Amino acid sequence: MVTAKQKRAIDLSAFPQGSVTEYSTLVCLACTFDIFTTQLGRAPRTAYSEIKKYSPTVAELTAPRAVPPFFDSDEKHPHCPYCKAARRWHARFDTTRIEGDKATAAARRKLIKALPRKDNQFQVIEAKSDKRTIFFDWLDTLGHNLDMEDDDWLLETTRAYLGRFKPKTHWEEVFNGVRAVRRSQRLAGDWGKEGTRLFLAPVVYSEALIVQYLVSRSHVHGGRTLEGRLTLQELIRRLSYGGYLDAKEISPGDQFEVLDQLIEKLSGGSGKVKLYYIVDRRDFLEKVKSVYARYAA
Ligand SMILES: [Zn+2]
Repeated sequence: MVTAKQKRAIDLSAFPQGSVTEYSTLVCLACTFDIFTTQLGRAPRTAYSEIKKYSPTVAELTAPRAVPPFFDSDEKHPHCPYCKAARRWHARFDTTRIEGDKATAAARRKLIKALPRKDNQFQVIEAKSDKRTIFFDWLDTLGHNLDMEDDDWLLETTRAYLGRFKPKTHWEEVFNGVRAVRRSQRLAGDWGKEGTRLFLAPVVYSEALIVQYLVSRSHVHGGRTLEGRLTLQELIRRLSYGGYLDAKEISPGDQFEVLDQLIEKLSGGSGKVKLYYIVDRRDFLEKVKSVYARYAA
């Protein structure tokens, strides 16, 4: 017998770390059946066949904050926040977003081809976006997953930035034991490690600061970075001293114009990106069936 975990895993090892994003959300089937039977007046059998066909939208599957009848929970035995239904009434949708580019094309085609499609167990949704939007999505997800009260969040953010923008290195391994991140002029490559300290080349370090600023600026005044709390003006001054603005040919202007250019450089700007969402519907299909059996009984 296959365990739930083995059964759900899809192999993403062929993809660079930064090109894949995983989302998970729960849907309450007690709420869903209630909508179909009470509000819409369907018989349980009709509700069952309609719910089975239901395909949530990409927005519903990937929202940083779930909307009813979806909800998010890290608890082992969560209850529906709307109707308090216990776990056996919940179904999970796992969604994997792959950014389409040349580096991922072959692996993506192979993965999608191998998915079981019987009864719509998996669904593939294609969408178009641009690099700037993807970058802000990534920042949102990062901000949502970070605990800014935790002292390690700056390390986490640095690692997330490196994973996305320098995907060829195994950062999990590199960060093992790292307690501090410093800027260094003396590196041959992007980074070096000495004991518990990770050293980053100036341009790389500067970009980590920009990401930290962007991810934390909505929570407090200014942004929090490896260099302490910085206003936008202070951030730009540091980037200027650090040589980042020259290295990236960012022209002087007021602080918001400079910020816009920083985001443009870091994100890749208006370049188009094709997105592939792979929706794992297996848990949903199983649970709809067992919940219906309970209704019909
Ligand atoms: Zn519910």
